Amino acid sequence: MAETEPSIFSRIIAGEIPADVVFDSERIIAFRDIAPQAPVHLLVVPKTEQYRDVTELAAGDPELLAELVATAKRLADEHSDGDFRLVFNTGAGAGQTVFHVHAHVLSANGGGHSLQ
Ligand code: 5GP
Repeated sequence: MAETEPSIFSRIIAGEIPADVVFDSERIIAFRDIAPQAPVHLLVVPKTEQYRDVTELAAGDPELLAELVATAKRLADEHSDGDFRLVFNTGAGAGQTVFHVHAHVLSANGGGHSLQ
């Protein structure tokens, strides 16, 4: 992503690209991942494009990071049995492809299934 271009997530937030939005508040949006890696795979995204990854978010706005984690828990409760994996890929070498901080919420659907 060039520094001057909005991230793909900013384009979703702006309504320029469709997404299956499951949560929308003043500072956070969440939508289903386009290529799910688990029965429930949501992306929880601060609307600001200011932070590239979770380390920048933690240093720059810890309250927003806490809000993001609370949102992840709320969504896991709503979409599964409440247990979830919270993943922040950090850096290209770790698989990060979108440099607009986001949390992956990965969960089984409940019903006794568990993540592999
Ligand atoms: P990363 O690899 O940066 O941790 O995660 C980026 C995630 O965004 C990937 O899991 C990818 O499937 C998802 N993704 C990329 N483009 C889109 C899109 O246009 N819509 C949605 N819903 N998810 C996307």
